[in-house]
Amino acid sequence: MSEGAGKAQEKRKIQAIKGVRDILPPETALWNRVEQTAHEVFATYGFGEIRLPIFEATELFARSIGTETDVVSKEMYSFKDLPTRNELALELWDRSVQFTPSGDFQSDEEKQLFEERKKGELLTLRPEATASVCRAYIEHGMHTLPGNVKLYYMGPMFRRERPQKGRYRQFYQIGAEVLSHTGDLKDDARVDAEVIEMLTTFFEKAGLEGTALYLNSIGCKECRPKYVELLRAALTKVKDKLGPDSQRRIETNPLRVLDSKLESEQAIIEKLPRIAEHLCPDCLEEYTEVKKQLAMRGISYAQNFRLVRGLDYYMRTTFEITAPGLGSQNAVCGGGRYDGLVELLGGPPTKGIGFAIGTDRVILSLQDMRKLPVERALDVYVAWMGEKNYPAAVKIARRLREAGLAVELPPGEMKFGKALGLADKLGARYALIIGDDEVATKQFTVKRLEDGEQKKLSERELVEHLKAGEAP
Ligand code: ATP
Ligand code: MG
Repeated sequence: MSEGAGKAQEKRKIQAIKGVRDILPPETALWNRVEQTAHEVFATYGFGEIRLPIFEATELFARSIGTETDVVSKEMYSFKDLPTRNELALELWDRSVQFTPSGDFQSDEEKQLFEERKKGELLTLRPEATASVCRAYIEHGMHTLPGNVKLYYMGPMFRRERPQKGRYRQFYQIGAEVLSHTGDLKDDARVDAEVIEMLTTFFEKAGLEGTALYLNSIGCKECRPKYVELLRAALTKVKDKLGPDSQRRIETNPLRVLDSKLESEQAIIEKLPRIAEHLCPDCLEEYTEVKKQLAMRGISYAQNFRLVRGLDYYMRTTFEITAPGLGSQNAVCGGGRYDGLVELLGGPPTKGIGFAIGTDRVILSLQDMRKLPVERALDVYVAWMGEKNYPAAVKIARRLREAGLAVELPPGEMKFGKALGLADKLGARYALIIGDDEVATKQFTVKRLEDGEQKKLSERELVEHLKAGEAP
């Protein structure tokens, strides 16, 4: 590369990559409020927060989500993590591996282990967090804890999807899981209903209006395969009326046809057999009980036979919550039961139910409703004048901040008029004037910017006066 080309490259603007974005103030205040609401509501239901790693072994997601799903087959950000030569050498040293005089491994086993390690590990940025929660549950032996294990998490997830409004490649979820190894079908239904109750409370407290809860049961490994065959047969009969995507799915994944948004297929889908009418006795018992439990809690819902979750591990209770103002990306929460997932990952037989809220979409919907939080206003702008008075300004600013006031202390000296102009633009409630006279007499001038009212006060009176005028 020529020197000129190198320079041009250096100066090129570096921008955030496709599908990811910055969240800036004042929007971050809304995020904090939503997340704080989750912390508070979930705690009242006895959930504790779990903080999980952002990347995991690829196999964790491949095994749990399922290799046939969109997420695993094409949306994961995976990378090879190769060990450095140094790391490899240290590992050999740590295990006191022996070599022959000619430099070969003494044991074939060690040699094989080394060759495997050299290949590195396949890692993935997490596309969701349920698998990680189950991994952690096993890794920390949480099945020995008393009662059901109730955990929640929040943070970024990564999926390589086509970016659009409400769909990003780095997006955020707030989720919760209940893991248990006791109880019967009736108990499970009560847990499901309580988790949904917690969700509705969260959405209510977060200020989201117009949400709708959709419910379905997708059966279990006993009844679902039979239903899928029934569905496949019904779809085969109407094959030539379907679009190419759905035609292909008759073979690969007939359940996904139910998900189709294609206008011409809607009337056909309405007439397809519905899984709720083909559940085995256990699944039917649980589904009926969940509906009873929701009714008892005064939670309204609509049954939606087309609700089939995108991830393989779900069974029985499945639900989705939608919110207004989001166009076609209107699902703000997806969830369901996943008994057996922990076992699939090498743990003890365990039942599970959980959900994930799409935080980005919750925020978009709140913004659409103009439910914006009141921004933290600037209380005091310190207009100091004269270099030698700066230390006094620093001291007073610190004292006011300790009292909880939001204070702006400009680093450089400014002319009086300019300082007041800036105070006004920043939306400060008061300007505090610190000049030669003020420092000499220890009486400080406070100007209320709203109406220009001025007062001279001592340092102690200052805190009281400014606190009293604080916004509620
Ligand atoms: P969708 O049908 O919208 O793709 P999904 O079924 O893939 O959703 P889940 O895996 O169940 O979604 O995740 C739960 C929630 O996370 C969704 O309801 C949605 O609110 C949010 N979500 C999922 N993918 C994205 C994304 N790429 N960008 C923003 N939010 C997302
Ligand atoms: Mg998706």
